[in-house]
Parts: sequence; C-alpha cells; structure tokens
Amino acid sequence: MYGIFDSHAHYDDKPFAPDRDELLSSVLPKAGIIGVVNIGNDTPSIASSYELAQRYDYIYCAAGHHPHSAKDVGEKELLELRDYLTRPKVVALGEIGLDYHYDFSPRDVQQRVFREQLAIAKEMDKPVVIHSREATADTMALLREFQPRGIVHCFSGSAETAREILSLGMYIGFTGVVTFKNARKTLEAAAAVPLERLLIETDCPYMAPVPMRGKRCDSTMLPYTLRTLAAVKGVDEEMLAAATAANAYTVYGIIPPARSTGCTAQ
Ligand SMILES: [Zn+2]
Repeated sequence: MYGIFDSHAHYDDKPFAPDRDELLSSVLPKAGIIGVVNIGNDTPSIASSYELAQRYDYIYCAAGHHPHSAKDVGEKELLELRDYLTRPKVVALGEIGLDYHYDFSPRDVQQRVFREQLAIAKEMDKPVVIHSREATADTMALLREFQPRGIVHCFSGSAETAREILSLGMYIGFTGVVTFKNARKTLEAAAAVPLERLLIETDCPYMAPVPMRGKRCDSTMLPYTLRTLAAVKGVDEEMLAAATAANAYTVYGIIPPARSTGCTAQ
C-alpha cells in the first residue's frame, strides 16, 4: 500500500459529525492517508479546522474566508485570520476567491475580501488556496496582479487556463470530478499539468468520485481519482501518489514525517 496526501478536505463539516473521530483516528490512516489539509472557510470552520490539526498528527489546516462568507468579513475577522496564520500547523490562507455561481455575497464584496486576503498572504508569505467558480476572468486578473504562491483547487477549467496558472508558478488540485462522465475538458487540463505541479484532493464531503458518486466523500476514495489521473499522465498510481504527496509537502511548506526504516539504531 502507498501513501496518499489529501490536499483539500472539510472534515469539520456536519456530515462527518457521527463518525469523525473514528474516520480520522483509524479509518483514514489504515487506508494509507498520510496527510490531510483541512480547509477552514469562515470564522467557525477556521476554529474547528485548527482544532482538528492540533488533535491529529497528520492533519494540517488552512484558514481563510470563502467568497460565500465574504459578506461577514470585516477588520475583526481579518485580524483574527492574521493571528491564526502565525499558529502551528496552519499551512495556508484559504480557501479564498470568487464564486459567481451562487453569489451568496455580492460580487464587489467578494472581490474586496479576496483582495484583502491576497494582500495578507503576500505580506505574511503564506501560500493561498484558491476557489473559483464561474469567475475565471476576474480570478485570473487578481492572481496576475498579486502573484501569490499556492494552489488553485478543484480545477475544472480549460487547458489554456491551467497553463496560465502554471505560468504564475502555482499548483493545480484535481478532485473526483476527473472520474465523472463529462470530465473530458478537465482531463485535457490535467494532461497539461506537469507531475511536479499536480495535487489530488477530495474536497470531501463533496465531489465523491465514480463509482461512489452521490455518497458522502472521504479520503479513502482518493484511489479512484488517482487511477484516472495516473492513466492521463501515463504513470503508475504509486508514482502519482508519491509525486502529489511531495508536491503537497512543498507547496504547503510541511516537513515530511521521517520514514520508519524498520530497524532501531544502536
Ligand atoms: Zn473546499
């Protein structure tokens, strides 16, 4: 069995309430999950993501304000965010960005809060985790302007957009969406991403891959995503798992845990 790093998950979400501890303390490690970045995307979920990262060795967290909750973000929230970003195991600022599909916050507010957080990431030298839905042109304009380090997550755009993200030095994360029937465009984009910039993620509890589509997703389903992407990249699954884990350690600035050699030094 090989180790898999889930670069983007939401284990603090409600659907995990009944069995969260069992999943995180036992099911995931037994399934070979060697790392998870749990993403905090509003004030309560930043706190609960941070708590998960303190409780479990292999869990890290990101802290940021999602475009959905941008309307709730003011000076106080940004000050708190800065404080979280100085704490242990808070490895990125995210997820942040623009979502014109739901428009839960007005677009001008989304853009302001995205800008403010991009500026904090630059100032504090933290990688960002970017969420962009039906907002490619505006997201790309802000990424070009701020040039942050980090990841565009749950990518389902074109190969052309992927190339532009790569030219900014960023990484691209793919979810179970790559296994869906209508994933042709996303697979073309994945083909354009070199192994050293590719990440895999669940975005769980959402985005369960085929054949689990519609179920509650968790990191044990990553092998389906891995298999599809490995075929696109023409490498074996173990090699892709190792490459994506190495990329996650690099982009999030995590020191990989020392491998056990199975013998004790005298
Ligand atoms: Zn997410």
